[in-house]
Order: sequence, then C-alpha cells, then structure tokens
Amino acid sequence: MTRPDAYTGPAIELIEVAKHYGKTTVLDGVNLTVAPGEFIALLGPSGCGKSTLLKLIAGLDELTSGEIHIAGRLANYLKPAQRDVAMVFQNYALYPHMTVRENLGFPLKMSGIDRDVVRGKVETAAHLLQLGAQLDRFPDELSGGQRQRVALGRAIVREPYIFLMDEPLSNLDALLRVEMRAELVRLHKRVGRTTIYVTHDQVEAMTMASRIVLMKSGVVQQVGTPAELYATPANVFVATFVGSPPMNMFGGLIESGVFRGPIEAAVPSGLKPGPVTLGIRPEHVEIRNGGLPAVIDAVERVGPDSYLRARTGAGAALTVRVDGATKAKEGDRINVRFPLEHLRLFDEAGNRMPMLEES
Ligand code: ADP
Repeated sequence: MTRPDAYTGPAIELIEVAKHYGKTTVLDGVNLTVAPGEFIALLGPSGCGKSTLLKLIAGLDELTSGEIHIAGRLANYLKPAQRDVAMVFQNYALYPHMTVRENLGFPLKMSGIDRDVVRGKVETAAHLLQLGAQLDRFPDELSGGQRQRVALGRAIVREPYIFLMDEPLSNLDALLRVEMRAELVRLHKRVGRTTIYVTHDQVEAMTMASRIVLMKSGVVQQVGTPAELYATPANVFVATFVGSPPMNMFGGLIESGVFRGPIEAAVPSGLKPGPVTLGIRPEHVEIRNGGLPAVIDAVERVGPDSYLRARTGAGAALTVRVDGATKAKEGDRINVRFPLEHLRLFDEAGNRMPMLEES
C-alpha cells in the first residue's frame, strides 16, 4: 500500500462493522472514526470482542458485514501486508537464536530492504527504545521488559501507518507494566503514529489513551476521552466499569425533586418521576453532621487514600473515599451527604439522564 502522505482524513473509519460466528454475534454494528496520531484504547471485559475487532482491522479475519477504511481506502479486501499496519501481541515470539539486532532487522531483511538501510533503521529503533547496549545480546539474556521492547521495536522498524497492539503488557509483572505504560505513551508521542491498543484493564486505558472505546458483548457503549467516560458515563455499565472502586449505585424512585431509595438525595425539580438508578463516585460522598447515618463495615487503606465500606440504615452498601491517614475504624458511625452536582442519574434502561448541574 502506498504511504498516503498527502492524505489528511481519518486514519481509520469503521462503518457498521459486524462479525458473526454462525449464530453467535461477536461484533454488532461498530462505528468509529480515528484521527491520525490518536492513541485509542479498545476496552471491555474478556470476550466482548476487542481482539476480534483488532484482527479485522489488521486483516487477519474477515468481517461479516460493514466497511473498514484505512487512510481513506476501503480495506475490506486488502491482505494484511497491504494495510500498512504492524501488530504487537501479548505473546511476542522473539527468535531465540538471533541477537536483538537480528531480531529487530529480520522483518526488514525479509522484505528485501538494503542492508545498510536496515542497519540504520535498527539503530534508530534501538536508540528510541533504549536497547542500544543490548543489540548484540540474545533474548534469554534480556529482562521481560527488554524483550517486550524488542517486540515493539520489530513493529517500529517497519514504520507502519498504524500500530495495533493486543494486551502487549499483560505478561509483565505489575511494576514493569506501570513503567512500560509510561514508556509506550512517550514512544507514541515521539513516533506520533495512530495506535489501537486492546486492554481489559481500565487503569491502563485511562492512563494511556487519548480516547477510549468501551465495549460490552460486541456493542460499543461509549467513545470518549478518559475524563469524559469518568465524569459523564453514558450508562450504568460504563459508570461501574470505569473507576476503581466503582461508582456507588442505588436503585430507587424520583418523586417531586427527591430521589428516594436506600439513600435520599435532592435532585433537579424538573426530572420526570419514576424508577431510576442514582450514582455517585466514592470521592464525592461527603461526611457531614446531619447527613444520612451509616455504619462502617471495613476500612480499606491504599496509601494516600482510604476507602470506607459502609452500610446505610436501609442496608445499602456505600464506598466513601477519605484521607489515607483516617482514624476511622470498623463499627464507627458516620453521616453522609450526596452533593447534587455530583449525582448521576440513569433511566430504567440504564442510560444516563442529563442533569443541568453536572460537573
Ligand atoms: P476479547 O478480546 O474482548 O476478550 P474476543 O474478540 O477474543 O474477545 O472474542 C469475542 C467473542 O468471540 C468471545 O465470546 C469468543 O468466544 C468469540 N470467538 C472468537 N473467535 C471465535 C471463533 N473462531 N469461533 C467462534 N467464536 C469465537
């Protein structure tokens, strides 16, 4: 595929993309427009169709219906090699008998590129990934993080139009994963290429992506910046999937400007009476004299913050974020309030009802 240097439209456009295996619907009418240079996270629970969507974009699987456009060209019938994409998988296989230098250069060598050009590109990628000192080592002489960087390097040397990554960090231990996250973000800023990154880890998506596509059962639930998904979730699923610990949720009824359920809270007076779900994030619940009484079941200390797991008189479970140094303990009684500007309401179908006071 010729590099579309003069092209300024969307890097990727998905139009009503569907994938069925027999009677099983894995992807159901996915629409998405990705601008050049974006870092998009495909996020959702295991089995929601993220990897399938990535494979369709890569050309490793055929869609049942819909259209995939890459750089303005219909890509449905293009072979993977014609799409100008590079994939990085969770299980990256490096050639054990080749040095880092040879591993990095292998894809280019195979495509018949001049040796000196290959050497130059390998050196550049190695520098970018801080692998300069490891170029003559073999994979079993590298740490897990270094091996993952070599796998990334093999994608980078090809200078693809789009990077497609499928949970590339999930085999690394927790500390290394956090480091590699930051490294990938830095790398993305320097290389500036459109990246689609599959993950089931909402923290990974929140910290890395310019926009998140949150999926459930093959259906896109919301597309937006991490801040948008966090502050204005489109539905109950998004509200509880993004954020840890999740948003508090209470089922109840709206009656003339008041939410009545296991908690009571004032809501805007114009809202239609009827059944709703009320949500509020743990950091927005206030501990105040005169508020609703609750009893602490457990105190979860996570360092800078602590989470009080409490229970209201009506038996509703409630999480409240407080200072890490809190003296609160199991069995203590507290009083809580739910500030109007932080309430989120969801209708019977689970979809968010806009409120004027949202912040
Ligand atoms: P995710 O990446 O979000 O974990 P996948 O895209 O791997 O999810 O899979 C989505 C769904 O498609 C799963 O329910 C899976 O069982 C199903 N699936 C994937 N590949 C096939 C296949 N070849 N045949 C039948 N079902 C499949």
